[in-house]
Amino acid sequence: MTDCIFCKIIDGEIPSYTVYEDDVVKAFLDISQTTPGHTLVIPKKHVQDMFTYDEDLAAAVFARLPKIARAVKASNPDIKGMNIINNNGEVAYQSVFHSHIHLVPRYSEDDEFAIDFTDNTEKYDDAKYKAIQESIVSKMEDEK
Ligand code: 5GP
Ligand code: ZN
Repeated sequence: MTDCIFCKIIDGEIPSYTVYEDDVVKAFLDISQTTPGHTLVIPKKHVQDMFTYDEDLAAAVFARLPKIARAVKASNPDIKGMNIINNNGEVAYQSVFHSHIHLVPRYSEDDEFAIDFTDNTEKYDDAKYKAIQESIVSKMEDEK
């Protein structure tokens, strides 16, 4: 894609601090460095988001995550854990529409990354869970 910033990074038109590259993915430092070592892993094929991957591409991209994550973690003894995040759609904070996976090293609970899952358990009963379950399961038929 000609006007895609990450395709330009893949092509070398825009420089990046690359930490890993092969025929399927490129991994490079996120410019924002939310925490030190914040890395993006992108497929070399331009796909917009998770909804547009096929199984083969997903298998190839996601298979590479453990070794990249291990290398990032091993790069700094202060890294205690890592959030691996993939945003899909503007509403989900996606700002670059070439799919990417964030590897965000975690140093402590008070470092500069935060994620806050609201717990709505108390608002749900069996019927509500089942209604959602059934609507998703019915759509899985279309995925076969
Ligand atoms: P999103 O918000 O779409 O999940 O994440 C996009 C990420 O791309 C952001 O964290 C942002 O810092 C990063 N980013 C945007 N432009 C560039 C760039 O030109 N180079 C690099 N290395 N990262 C970028
Ligand atoms: Zn692209």
